[in-house]
Amino acid sequence: MSISRTVNISCPSCGTKQDVRLYDAINVATDPELKETLMLNQLNRVDCVDCVDCELSFRVDLPLLYTDPSNNILIHWVPENDETKREEVLAEFEEALARMNEMMPADVEPPNVRLVMTRVELVELIYIIEAGLNHRVVEYVKYSIHTRNMEKINPSEFRLLLNVGDSTDEELCFVKQNVQSNELGTVLRYGRAAYDSMVELYDENPDEFMEMFPGPCVSARDLLLEDEELT
Ligand SMILES: [Zn+2]
Repeated sequence: MSISRTVNISCPSCGTKQDVRLYDAINVATDPELKETLMLNQLNRVDCVDCVDCELSFRVDLPLLYTDPSNNILIHWVPENDETKREEVLAEFEEALARMNEMMPADVEPPNVRLVMTRVELVELIYIIEAGLNHRVVEYVKYSIHTRNMEKINPSEFRLLLNVGDSTDEELCFVKQNVQSNELGTVLRYGRAAYDSMVELYDENPDEFMEMFPGPCVSARDLLLEDEELT
């Protein structure tokens, strides 16, 4: 089930108020059309009612829970802003996750839970899951691309996004994105065979990947930034 509420909000440009329906949770099994809305960047988007003088279209970023029961995944998008500190979000989230796992019956497989801080990461992750790719291996590939190109793809400035749509049987297509401006840059291609052999390694022994990316944030960039802070 998806969860929404009606909120009275003011247009950030002209101040005109209106009642809008905002979603806190979407379930793609019961409401597949909401997933489409999300993918088109229309979820929780508001068009100012003062369509004569203003016409502003803006997105209201609230924490969103995305659930896809058929892929056994729960993704929390907690938008980063000036008030939310990344570390605090993560700490709170891990506590909540631990409580949830305690409440789960022992014989039920707990869902995969992921935490993302930006909409692009949410959309990327949805594509990764639906394409049947191994998320941790994809992040491992990003990790190695970053570390081999520290000058050009420094994680403090750039993130790598997997473009599932442009990827083929021969190669995975990554695109560099500036984290400040969100501008997309160079496309980097990574051999599919190398990815596949890493998936084989994962299947034989996932421990190393799990240790590297225990979750709920499975992110090469986060890991690199953490490492940087420690040194
Ligand atoms: Zn307005």
